[in-house]
Amino acid sequence: MDMPASRPESPRPERDRPDGCPGARRVHVAADGAIGRLRFPGGSLPAPGFAVLADLAESFGDGDIHFTSRGNVQIRGIRDVSGFADAAEEAGMLPHPAHDRVRNILQSPMTGRVGGLDDVSELVHAFDDALCADESLASLPGRTLFAIDDGRGDVLGEAPDLGLVALGGGEYELVVAGAPAGISVPRERAVPALLSATRAWAEVRGEAWRVAESGLADRIIAMTSEAMGVDAGEASDAESFAFAHPGTAQIGWIDQPDGLVSLAAGLRFGVLPARLARAISHTRVPVHVTPWYSLILHDLEEPVAEQVVRVMAPNGLVFDRKSTWLNVSACTGRPGCPKSLSDTRGDAAHAIAQARLPEGRVHFSGCERRCGKPKGGFVDYLAIDDGEYEVTSVD
Ligand code: SF4
Repeated sequence: MDMPASRPESPRPERDRPDGCPGARRVHVAADGAIGRLRFPGGSLPAPGFAVLADLAESFGDGDIHFTSRGNVQIRGIRDVSGFADAAEEAGMLPHPAHDRVRNILQSPMTGRVGGLDDVSELVHAFDDALCADESLASLPGRTLFAIDDGRGDVLGEAPDLGLVALGGGEYELVVAGAPAGISVPRERAVPALLSATRAWAEVRGEAWRVAESGLADRIIAMTSEAMGVDAGEASDAESFAFAHPGTAQIGWIDQPDGLVSLAAGLRFGVLPARLARAISHTRVPVHVTPWYSLILHDLEEPVAEQVVRVMAPNGLVFDRKSTWLNVSACTGRPGCPKSLSDTRGDAAHAIAQARLPEGRVHFSGCERRCGKPKGGFVDYLAIDDGEYEVTSVD
């Protein structure tokens, strides 16, 4: 059986505890209360679901909906954890409690509407169904990230542990440890191939959370190759799919070939206030939550899209691709995190208002953990005191 060239093995980190990724019932406790996370495979949440999120944020959390870099949303500041989880489940936001933390599945959010080599939406649903139907996969770590990319390279850039990328002509290539893995299959065998790789990962991972850190990518590829009866050939070059920073490229007004419009809105620090979530719910259109702290409303009639921009832009949603807000991120900081030396978001907002930030990606952190830092290079603002930062460039 042909094998692709071996990947360099990175040292395996010691894991002496389960991963702390929150779910709807298993929450993470922060200084400002518990954090509950809700997952929407592919980031798909039709507009009416935003009214449910608004209710949950106002009834149980701090009144905001916090987006994550994995295309999920979080409610923070929860005091009544079981009340929150029960309400989420009752509203249909926890359809697979046993697999809740495993359903981290990204998809190219514009798939099937504009661009891409294929429409991957159905593959995402089919994979989610298959994942949740397999009891043995419920114990995978919440850190394991899946992605199905329609060939444009946007979610492939998120370095998923396992996934698929469309090659065109109805062919898909398996993705392992963030890179194409040399196993190509026709569309009808794509989900079985990804499921097979997922089972291989569950079998060999030991205590590891992420495939890349485990050094087990080659083993997973070999096991999948054998299970699928497909030789692993030369892997595609990940760079050939490279998509320039989708967080800024996929923003604003996007004309669809059917005459309708998609509107992609960036969120300041990934936060959507409940009142804006309610406004979104009234559009009653399909919506995708992206891993780039944005959301995309699809299939809008032009006059409706114009009205959405008119109402939402002055309320803080970002539709301008050149906005500085799209390049600036900040960890939770004070008062939500006790480790923070400063109010990172307040400081970042102040610096944006004064137009005194450098060009390119900038991240503010309240301590050296640098939670939520961007992938790739950025200018690092690290708090060393209240309102004081050490500024360095990170490659
Ligand atoms: S980077 Fe530090 S201060 Fe900021 S949220 Fe993470 S742990 Fe808290």
